[in-house]
Amino acid sequence: HIKKHYTQSSKLFGLGRSSVVKAVDGVSFELAAGETLGLVGESGCGKSTTGRAVLYLERPTEGKTWYNGQDLSTLHGEELRRLRKDMQIVFQDPYSSLNVRMKIRDVLTEPFHIHGLHAGLEAQQAKQLLEMVGLPQASLDKYPHEFSGGQRQRIVIARAIALRPKFIVCDEPVSALDVSVQSQIVNLFGQLQKELDLTYLFISHDLSVVRHVSDRVGVMYLGKMVELGSKTSIFGKPLHPYTQALMSAIPIPNPKMQRQREKITLRGELPSPLNPPAGCRFHTRCPWAEERCRQVEPEWREAEPNHWVACHLVNP
Ligand code: SF4
Ligand code: MG
Repeated sequence: HIKKHYTQSSKLFGLGRSSVVKAVDGVSFELAAGETLGLVGESGCGKSTTGRAVLYLERPTEGKTWYNGQDLSTLHGEELRRLRKDMQIVFQDPYSSLNVRMKIRDVLTEPFHIHGLHAGLEAQQAKQLLEMVGLPQASLDKYPHEFSGGQRQRIVIARAIALRPKFIVCDEPVSALDVSVQSQIVNLFGQLQKELDLTYLFISHDLSVVRHVSDRVGVMYLGKMVELGSKTSIFGKPLHPYTQALMSAIPIPNPKMQRQREKITLRGELPSPLNPPAGCRFHTRCPWAEERCRQVEPEWREAEPNHWVACHLVNP
C-alpha cells in the first residue's frame, strides 16, 4: 500500500519498492545524475543492504533496480559486468578493503586488468589516480600497511574511480577514521564529485557528515524509508517523529540555542529488523503513537513538494 514515487525526472538510479531481502523491503528512491543522496538511520536498519541492492551485488529476489533506464534484472554476465564499470562501492574499513600483499601500483592497475582494459597506459593512469586523491607518486611501490587509515581510504577511493565510474555507493566511508581525518576525506569526495561528475549514495550514521555531503537525505528505520527530502527540509523541518528524534540528538555547539529545542528521547530498544512491529514499525518507540499506528502501516506520501514521509500524523 505504499505508493510508488518518482521525484526526479533525470533519474540515474531507481530501486524497486518491494526489493531484495526483508531488510530493504519498502525502500524506493531515485538518484539524479550528479547528486548526493545521504542515507541515515541506526545500524541494522538496512542502509548497507540497500546500497548493495542498488548495485546488484546481491541480486534481488523481488523488486527492481534501473540504471540509465535499464532494468538490471534483465542483464546477465557480460552486460552486467560492463555496467559495473560505471558503479563502485567504497566501504567503511580501508584495512580490509585492500589486499595486504599487493603493492599500491597493482591495487590501482587491477581494475583495468579485471575489465580487460590493459592498453599499456595503466602505469600512467595509476600515477594520475594518486595525484587525484592527493597521495605522492612514491606510494606506488609501497604496501597498504605503510599507510595511515586516511591514506588507505584515499587509495581505496583512487581504485574506485580508476575506471571513471558515474556512481559510487559510499558505505560509512569515514566512520573508521580519526575525526581529524574525516573532513579531509569528505572534502576529497566533494572535490572528485565536481571533477568527475559523480553521483553518490552516501550511507552514514553520522548526521553531521551527511549534512555536509548531501543534496537530499533519506531516513531509514527497520528496513524502510520513513522520510525523504532535501537536506534543508530533513534537517530544518523534519516531519517524521523518528527523524525528529535523530535530529534532536545532534549536539548544538551554541548552548544558547539549546533551549529552542528539546531532546526527544526514544523509549524502548530497537526491535529486530527481521521481526518488525506491525503497523508503523516505529510505534514501539514513537512518543506520539496511537491505536491505528499499531495496526495500520502509514502510507508513503508526498507531504510537501519533494518531501516524502510515512506517518499517520503527518499524512492524516
Ligand atoms: Fe509515530 Fe504513528 Fe507516525 Fe508511526 S505513524 S511515526 S507510530 S505517529
Ligand atoms: Mg552498515
